[in-house]
Order: sequence, then structure tokens, then C-alpha cells
Amino acid sequence: MQDAIAVINAGSSSIKFAVFDEQGSVLQRVLAGSIRDIGTSSPRFIVKNVAGKILDSKQWEEGALLSQEDATAFLFEMLPAQLKGHRLRAIGHRVVHGGEHYLAPVRVDAEVLSALEALIPLAPLHQPHNLALIRTLLATTPGLPQIACFDTAFHHTQSSIERAFALPRDITERGVRRYGFHGLSYEYIASVMVQRDPKLAGRVVVLHLGNGASMCAMQDGKSVSSTMGFTALDGLPMGTRCGTLDPGVVLYLMDALKMNPGQVESVLYQQSGLLGVSGISSDMRTLEASDTPHARDAIDLFIHSIKRQLGALAATLGGLDGIVFTAGIGENSALVRERVCLDAAWLGVELDQAANRAGVGQITTASSAVSAWIIPTDEEAVIAEQTRRVIAAA
Ligand code: ADP
Repeated sequence: MQDAIAVINAGSSSIKFAVFDEQGSVLQRVLAGSIRDIGTSSPRFIVKNVAGKILDSKQWEEGALLSQEDATAFLFEMLPAQLKGHRLRAIGHRVVHGGEHYLAPVRVDAEVLSALEALIPLAPLHQPHNLALIRTLLATTPGLPQIACFDTAFHHTQSSIERAFALPRDITERGVRRYGFHGLSYEYIASVMVQRDPKLAGRVVVLHLGNGASMCAMQDGKSVSSTMGFTALDGLPMGTRCGTLDPGVVLYLMDALKMNPGQVESVLYQQSGLLGVSGISSDMRTLEASDTPHARDAIDLFIHSIKRQLGALAATLGGLDGIVFTAGIGENSALVRERVCLDAAWLGVELDQAANRAGVGQITTASSAVSAWIIPTDEEAVIAEQTRRVIAAA
């Protein structure tokens, strides 16, 4: 029987999963799938093999409610049939926030779980869902190692000045500082980018542009600075999150508009960003297809914010050797990449229009001083590898 590692990324309305076959120290993805629209009218499940062939799928009836526990139970009823010939050795989980303490992946027990639950206020959109699923699995399959892999950990190489807010020391000492997120994605990009171009071992800004969006300045593949801070709200405007905001706005919402903390949280996390500005959608495809002025404003604000942050990150690095686009928008939107690269001409980026439209690999000309690349991210591969290392070391 072959050993296998499963990877789970549990969100508010979806559970994405993948299974990797373990051959010695080499991991090979064998299947991947998701249960989407959990808790909405018609949840959907699909699982495919690596060639993209659908192995199984299900659509629940209109109106059928499915909780995350139901979804987890379904997943674990379904998995054995898909895992024929494999013995599941461990499950690796994406956990958004590891706080100050967790700088490397860790096997979760009751004590670790409660330490991670204490971080829920720092990532209210993700952390509760990541942890609820781990809690369920610790109870239902106690012998199976559950490994938490953190989005914050990659950024622990940042300097203390980079991580600090100019707040009184007693507040800073409570852990109120910049952490940075999307670290699993950045770790993947850092592990493959030098094979594309040796210059990417130098000063690089990686743009992870998905529903959540951030940018990371790297030197020698290590995080130097990130646009995200204490929570995953900071930096770029995102699908529904506001990005960088004068903290005075929060005081105004509470004092003048009489919003309570829950209402403020909902504005900042769920009603802002591309959705809030466009009034139409959080989805870049919908905005690109729309000709309304508000949809245009949302895209313009997104691009403007990237331009500003790219300048700041290049200054932090003392120059720039390369940029890398990744995640849903970064990998697929030729329009966003084109506008970002044209805005970055002053930094030495010379866009190759045809290569950008083709949408793979290098998208700058051979004479460009700074090269720009599209590199698809693979957070699941990083989680599987981190999980393998934790159980190998046990
Ligand atoms: P998540 O953070 O949920 O993992 P993704 O990385 O899947 O997000 O990115 C989702 C975003 O990618 C959405 O805004 C979606 O519109 C955008 N996207 C996906 N495909 C395209 C495309 N062809 N053109 C423009 N945007 C796209």
C-alpha cells in the first residue's frame, strides 16, 4: 500500500482538498477537489485526477443546507473510495494565522488548537473555519496526525523594524505588529522562481492577486516586506476587503456613524474592496466585462494601489530585479498585468505585449532591465511538503 498525505484548505463557504502520493521523499498529486457553496442553496462537490478527469461529483438539492461539519463528514465518507491502494498518513491544513509563536508547521493537539483559537480575532474571515475542521478531525480520527501550516510563517525573516507599528511599546508587546499572509503561496513561488531566471534570486516583488491580494518583497527568496499587516485587511484593495485605510476612518464609523464592532468588521472585510467600489461584484472577470464607471473605478483603484505599493517595496529592497504575478487575477488577467507593467516602466519593466497576452512564463522583452513572470502558485504542494517533513521528523 502506498502512503498518502491529504491537504485541506477550509474557508467560510468552501473546502478545497488534494491528495498526494508519497514515494520516498517525492510527493505526487493524485487527486484534487472541492466542496463549494457550503451553507448556500445548492452546494457542489467535485473531485478530479491530475489529468483533469472527473472522478466523482455531486450537487445537493436547491435549498439543502450543508454545515461545515456535514461537509467534512461527507468528505471523509467519500475519500476512502478515492484512496484505493493508499494509506492516509496525515492531513495538512492551511491555517492563516500562526501569531508570534508558530513560525513553522506543527502537529495540532488540544493545546495547540486552543492557542490557535486565541488568534481568531486576528483573522475572523479564515481562522475559525480552518480550525473548526481540525477540531472535528481530532475528535473523529484521533490517531491521524493533523498538521497546521501557516500563512504567516514565511514572513518571520522580516526585520523587527519592518514588522513594527509606531504604537506604545506595551501594545506592541501584546503582539500588535505586522505579520504578513499568503506565505504558503510565496514559499511555493520562492522555491521555483530561480529555475525560471537566476536573476530572481535577487530583489523580487511577488504579486499574489486573488480574492485576497497582497505583495511580498523578497531578497534571495526570503520575505523582506509585505503589504499585509496585523490582519489580512491591510495593503491592496481585495475582492471584498478594503486594504490600507487611515485608522481614523474606523473611529469615524464608530463615533459618527454609530457602527458597532461587528458592523465595522463587516464593512471592512465583506462590503469593501472591488465589491464596495464597483457596487457590482468582487470578481475581476465580471468587472473587466462591465462598462459601468464604477466597475472601471474599482479596477483603477486596484491598479493604482499596486503601483504605489510596488514603488514602496522596490524602495525597501533598494532596487528591483524581477516581478512575479500569481493567483487567480495574476495568472489570468492580461489586462491587470499589462497595466501594472506599464506603470512600472520607470523601474525598468519593458512589457512584451504578445507574451503577456499568451499568458505563460516571461512577459517582458529580452532587453527589459527588470523581468516579469507569470508563475502559477501551488499552496497545496507546499502544505503537503511541510506535512511530510513534520511527520518524518516525529
Ligand atoms: P482565492 O483567494 O479565493 O483563492 P483566486 O486565486 O482563485 O482566489 O482568485 C480569484 C480571482 O481571480 C477573482 O477575482 C477572479 O475574477 C479572478 N480571475 C480568475 N480568472 C480570471 C480571468 N480569466 N480574468 C480576470 N480575472 C480572473
